[in-house]
Amino acid sequence: MEWTRSDTIALANNSCTQCHGLGLRLGKKERMNPCNCVLRAIFRACHARFRHCATKEKYMSRISLEQVSSRERSFSWGRKDEEYMADFILLGRRTLSEFDFKLFRFHFLLGADWKLCCRRMGIDRGTFFHAVYRVQQELGRIFREVEPYSLFPLDEYFHGSVRAAPLRPSQLSFVPRMQPDLRSRSFLPGLLKSA
Ligand SMILES: [Zn+2]
Repeated sequence: MEWTRSDTIALANNSCTQCHGLGLRLGKKERMNPCNCVLRAIFRACHARFRHCATKEKYMSRISLEQVSSRERSFSWGRKDEEYMADFILLGRRTLSEFDFKLFRFHFLLGADWKLCCRRMGIDRGTFFHAVYRVQQELGRIFREVEPYSLFPLDEYFHGSVRAAPLRPSQLSFVPRMQPDLRSRSFLPGLLKSA
């Protein structure tokens, strides 16, 4: 996608020394790239939504009727919160290196603080925070750019997009061992076992 100022200006950090609050930086071949402060802001917004979905009581999960484009059926039932959480995790798994995904899992999915992550992964504080920035930046970009259903903007994900068919964990061949756990909220503790 082509990033423009209207995509970035509301997300940029006003005190950012790289983009000075515009959210864009000039890259190779005169191409405008999103500043890292924007990518981290996108990640933080998506992560906050993930935590919100994960901590809601199960009975509060909203089942929504979505219009779909298939000929046989014009509507489909979907659980948006569960789909969103699955997308959030699966994009992390597909995008990040093994090391970064491990950190993503401990710190962002399971909520371990830096001390616990450092002990568990055998790394120092500097390595931990560098990896946190890297994860936020890589996933911030993916959450916005992934097609056809980007996670960000969140409003469009939850209220705007019309999926041809809801994403099913069973359709995603790159995470076969996570399939059974994704059907229930119990997948979060389950992730620790595969670490
Ligand atoms: Zn910036």
